[in-house]
Amino acid sequence: MPDLMARPLIPGGSEGRGSCLEASMSDPRNPVIGILGTGDFSRSLAKRLMAAGYQVVVGSRTPKRFVALFPEEAEVTTQMEAASQADLVFVAVYPEHHSTLVSLKATLAGKTLVDVSNGLRLNRDGPSNAELLADYFPESVVVKGFNTISAWTLQMGPRDGNRQVFLCGNSQKAKDSVKQVCCRMGFIPVDMGLLSSSLEIENLPLYLFPSWRIPILCTLSLFAFFYIYNFTQDVLHPYITSRKNAFYKMPIDTVNLTLPSVALVMLSLVYLPGLCAAFRQLCSGTKYKRFPNWLDCWLTTRKQFGLCSFLCAVLHAIYSLCLPLRKSARFKLINMAYKQVKMGVEDSWVDEEVWRMELYLSVGIMALGLLSLLAVTSLPSVANSINWREFSFIQSSLGYCALSMATAHTLIYGWNRAFDASQYHFYMPPNFILVLVLPIVVLLGRLALFLPCVAGRLRRIRRGWESCRQIRFMLPGEEYRNGMEDISNV
Ligand code: NAP
Repeated sequence: MPDLMARPLIPGGSEGRGSCLEASMSDPRNPVIGILGTGDFSRSLAKRLMAAGYQVVVGSRTPKRFVALFPEEAEVTTQMEAASQADLVFVAVYPEHHSTLVSLKATLAGKTLVDVSNGLRLNRDGPSNAELLADYFPESVVVKGFNTISAWTLQMGPRDGNRQVFLCGNSQKAKDSVKQVCCRMGFIPVDMGLLSSSLEIENLPLYLFPSWRIPILCTLSLFAFFYIYNFTQDVLHPYITSRKNAFYKMPIDTVNLTLPSVALVMLSLVYLPGLCAAFRQLCSGTKYKRFPNWLDCWLTTRKQFGLCSFLCAVLHAIYSLCLPLRKSARFKLINMAYKQVKMGVEDSWVDEEVWRMELYLSVGIMALGLLSLLAVTSLPSVANSINWREFSFIQSSLGYCALSMATAHTLIYGWNRAFDASQYHFYMPPNFILVLVLPIVVLLGRLALFLPCVAGRLRRIRRGWESCRQIRFMLPGEEYRNGMEDISNV
């Protein structure tokens, strides 16, 4: 608080810039911040630093050319002048041009340099830009940071964009001073350790949805497979066998048959790795054996699998709502009514059909509702506001309810058609039979884990019991439950 009270309300007041600079330089808690470079990043950074109450001095190769682009309170001067005035220097210059700054080496000795540069391409081998900068300036201390914050975010302030700033460096003191600057600008510093982590920080802005690649690939592959399967059955088969043109079904009908198939299989793929992990632990009798990499990777991308499933389910709902709007549906309805009038049928009500449709829609709506809840709770802001038990209740218990509802939705859709030989076009079973295999396996697997003997063993394993270790093991509260200590594995 006394620190804040001592700070001038208007930087660079009436006594002129020089005197204020001198005043701030003498106060180590309010360092003069230098920025080398006058590009987009430099301009946004200068604005944000000044809003945080810092004195800013910008170093340019041609200061006169760019002075008008900066706020009046910022001093735009030569690189040498800026380097000598500043206590902490942001290097807002592309890494290719770092070498052109070596003439400042002596002036920058003992000062902290913040390297804000990004890598040019992902997964290049070291050294990083920050490590190269440290080689150019061995007498300065280099801190890597701010590269994950765009010029736009800096300009808008931390209210509009990512607030985390990843930092790393070999000097704790230098990192602390950068962290302080960071906090005063309203950002949250995240210490990533030594300068050797800088390559990782430089790579961060270059990733393109790394955890989404496999789920998206899986969704697209399943979509392609089911689309071709449905096209063959519903469009190609009638054309080849009876020259009936059903190609109009391709944009809506076939897509609408494909989407729920993908949604259900993807939802099963959310719960399948958890089952694989549980059965693996049961078989090996320990939780301390590492899962294979593919299972690890699958377990960590369950959220993305779930969100892809949710997207397909929502699209299926929208497509279904649009079905009656099509001209083909209207023509079909009119033709059917005309036929019935011609045949003298007065009442076309079929009780079984009515019940089937009512149940089918109701279960489908429930499944979509539960899936929406799962999707909402997977948002970090929502997930952070509930405790672990609530999160696992929603994601696991309600997730299995959603899977059961979606499976029931598909079963009702299939009804008795699985036993109708005319549905097996080209000797291929109707698509809902294929779709149901995985969810039924997952649901049966889950039921198997509920068996008391299996559930008990799994619970013990997850609390550290090992079948191969001859140790006395007892779950908390067991002695109170049955009055006997379990020494089955002593
Ligand atoms: P920019 O607009 O091209 O500005 C680069 C500045 O570097 C120039 O204005 C120039 O200023 C200065 N410079 C110094 N020596 C130079 C030389 N030998 N040749 C050319 N220019 C030289 O680039 P920027 O977008 O501000 O990016 C600057 C750094 O910030 C980059 O390392 C970038 O990776 C990083 N960064 C940028 C953003 C962003 O959103 N823009 C986000 C994160 C990180 P003078 O002519 O006045 O000397």
